Amino acid sequence: MKIYLDTIGCRLNQAEIESMARQFRAAGHEIVASPAGADMAVMNTCAVTNDAASDSRRIIRNLARAGVKEIIATGCWSTLQPKEAANLPNVLHVIPNNQKDNLVTQALHLPLTTYHAPFDLEPISRNPLPGLHHRTRAFIKVQDGCDNHCTFCITTVARGEGRSRPLADVINDIQFALAGDAKEIVLTGVHLGSWGQELNAHLRDLIKAILRETDAPRLRLSSLEPWDLDADFFSLWSDARLAPHLHLPLQSGCESTLRRMARKTTPDSFRALIQSARNILPDVAITTDIIAGFPGETEDEFSASLAFVKEINFAGGHVFTYSPRPGTGAAKMRGQVKPDVRKNRNHVLREALDQSAKAYREKFIGKTLSVLWESTSEMGEWGWQMEGWTENYLRVKAVAFAPRWNEMDKVKLVTMDGESLKGEIV
Ligand code: SF4
Repeated sequence: MKIYLDTIGCRLNQAEIESMARQFRAAGHEIVASPAGADMAVMNTCAVTNDAASDSRRIIRNLARAGVKEIIATGCWSTLQPKEAANLPNVLHVIPNNQKDNLVTQALHLPLTTYHAPFDLEPISRNPLPGLHHRTRAFIKVQDGCDNHCTFCITTVARGEGRSRPLADVINDIQFALAGDAKEIVLTGVHLGSWGQELNAHLRDLIKAILRETDAPRLRLSSLEPWDLDADFFSLWSDARLAPHLHLPLQSGCESTLRRMARKTTPDSFRALIQSARNILPDVAITTDIIAGFPGETEDEFSASLAFVKEINFAGGHVFTYSPRPGTGAAKMRGQVKPDVRKNRNHVLREALDQSAKAYREKFIGKTLSVLWESTSEMGEWGWQMEGWTENYLRVKAVAFAPRWNEMDKVKLVTMDGESLKGEIV
């Protein structure tokens, strides 16, 4: 069969789609770059915001319009709205998140009992997903679900309780990715920092094992909740392969707002954690997520949040305009902030983050960092325009005489170029 795979949302969704591609291929099917002519399609949906939910529906409708007769809807939105998903055109199966690991077996009507054995998986070749999702980094799922109940979060509702993948399975996936020439491994999960909690272990044990047992050239951690980390955690960076980039969602810089969000952190504890990280890694990139206009957020609370964001000097991040998600505690809270006020606060926070991100990039002018090239475009007699990411997550452009996709080079950073840096391959 010709199978088309699509996803939106988080890196975990991406990691799951990559894993499905391997299983479908191992079962003898072809992964195609576009839905036109596909016999089956899988859409990994997202529900983190209203927009993500409507995008998920739009993509499914487009798959039907493209002529796909058998569509499988999975992921957070279809888990939360199975009836609505099943009513979309040509959706023949709705597979919830807690059955996603069996999706390929179910889709191919293989006996579930043989779930673990039916696929003789090929190395994650670097052409795993044709078309849009053609990446150089391998996203590896290490954990799923979450036991926290942040009041704005629908993911914890859609993904269920926290559960860790066994260390051996994670190492196995990484070895597959490396056998497929991956240069960067990105560990993903819904609540990555909780890996090992039911195994009497901690994320640091997993990272140590990966660095000890694999020769991954670069290991990156995706989003980490600040309360899962302590000062000792940063000693892991004595291994230079660990990317000096921490994505720590703050959500708000105001203590009373954080309490209404049921976040297990405070501005003081967050500040102390950042200081511990910077004591060991002075140039570490600290990026974050912030919510603008959370229910009950007064002008004073917003000013406190903004002042804290400016104080921390983040290297970048995302600002989300609060979006009430049915089924979350926050959606029922009093004091919902007017949409235009939310939007304006998003704008102000965005500006503050852009300024500190620019200042962070400027610090590296004149320095030499390693860059993993992710995209190449030919420029005729001028050679090839390369674009890629440094270990501390700076986007860099440079010119090369030959295409260097998925190669890692030392690059001297010479000038700013919008949100990127221009460099010269050393
Ligand atoms: S820690 Fe909070 S925000 Fe993160 S997945 Fe869990 S409930 Fe959601």
